[in-house]
Amino acid sequence: MISGVRGTRDIVPGQVERWQYVEMTARRVCELYGYTEIRTPIIEREELFTKGTGQTTDIVQKEMYSFTDRGDERVTLRPEATPGVVRAFVEHALEQALAQPKLYSLGPMFRYERPQKGRYRQFHQLNVEVFGVADPSIDAELMEMAASLIHALGITGSELVINSVGCPKCRPKFSAALMKALGDDVERLCGDCQRRAKTNPLRIFDCKITADQTIIDALPHSVDYLCVDCGKHFEEVQGHLNRYGQAFAISHRLVRGLDYYTRTTFELVQASLGAQNALLGGGRYDGLVKQLGGPDRAGIGFAAGLERLVLALPENRVMAPVPDAFVASFGEDVREEAFIVAKTLRDAGLRTLIDYDRRSAKSQMKRADRAGARYVVIVGGDELARGEVTLKDMTTGEQRAVARESLLELLKTTEPGQ
Ligand code: AMP
Repeated sequence: MISGVRGTRDIVPGQVERWQYVEMTARRVCELYGYTEIRTPIIEREELFTKGTGQTTDIVQKEMYSFTDRGDERVTLRPEATPGVVRAFVEHALEQALAQPKLYSLGPMFRYERPQKGRYRQFHQLNVEVFGVADPSIDAELMEMAASLIHALGITGSELVINSVGCPKCRPKFSAALMKALGDDVERLCGDCQRRAKTNPLRIFDCKITADQTIIDALPHSVDYLCVDCGKHFEEVQGHLNRYGQAFAISHRLVRGLDYYTRTTFELVQASLGAQNALLGGGRYDGLVKQLGGPDRAGIGFAAGLERLVLALPENRVMAPVPDAFVASFGEDVREEAFIVAKTLRDAGLRTLIDYDRRSAKSQMKRADRAGARYVVIVGGDELARGEVTLKDMTTGEQRAVARESLLELLKTTEPGQ
């Protein structure tokens, strides 16, 4: 027996319906807000992520599935969607093609992380991006949409947290203030933080090591170092959120693990999920399109983890669909006709199962019961000769002969148990 790869999961029947529900709801909500779907490849050039996601990120430093292919190209299984969507936006000049570039996508991502509940090596995201809008109204709309999606899924108890990490103009001042406040304490921080202090001091806020927390909690806040424009932007984002009636909390530690964020960052967190409690996260990335070779355009987006949405989905939210009918045939001489009966039902849009293995009457009935079929349509010699089949209502156990022509009508109009 060859088992699945560590950190990957099969989505089996019984679970897959919950996934389909989440995906369908995500599509519906995105389309309500004017987003159209984009599908980009799972495999991209490695440099797209080293340049886009950023050299100093955990993703690029230690989590990418990168390899040299048979044509000597360095390629990577995408660890996140944004750089690929930006690439496609530029490569296909979507700015000209679309009246308003609002794009969503759904699909698998790959990160070599330590697997645990809610964290996998192959996981799936809903990814949402807007290009070319610098105005704070879109920041707020995006967060409100994210909250609407969570609401539409019936998930309760999540909290929106926001922050502003400034822009290339004001961030250096904040980084310098961080280093100054840290002073000699840098040496008391964990090894990762000491490295972060050199490459990207903001990232220190991502640290989860308990011993480091007292030092980190005393560090300055990015919102106190925003330039006039970034400060105004952040104020306006909050104003819009308030007008939407969207509750939020400001978290000074929310810097997020990617290099490209500017100004707004946000997460929707769900305490009941445990350690991996972010349902979704995102932010503004105004320099990224240009950095990846495109025009100088603003950008903003978020990614939601589908595993976590499925996990947080209320237990009884989704029922696996049951077959409408199971066609049982009693006797070799009527077997072929049974397949025609099944086809007629399927043509009429009824979910229909049938026995293929010439099982006994009893065993076919058992199977129909196990499959949860609402009705069994029994095709037997005598009835067939009269142009009839037997219809058994599996809810009431009631059984009666019906004319073949009226079968469809009966099945489509009869509620179980009636
Ligand atoms: P990120 O792309 O890191 O900003 O993450 C966005 C969202 O994707 C998170 O809030 C999680 O819901 C989800 N996510 C990120 N990494 C993983 C992972 N390894 N396994 C499962 N979900 C993840």
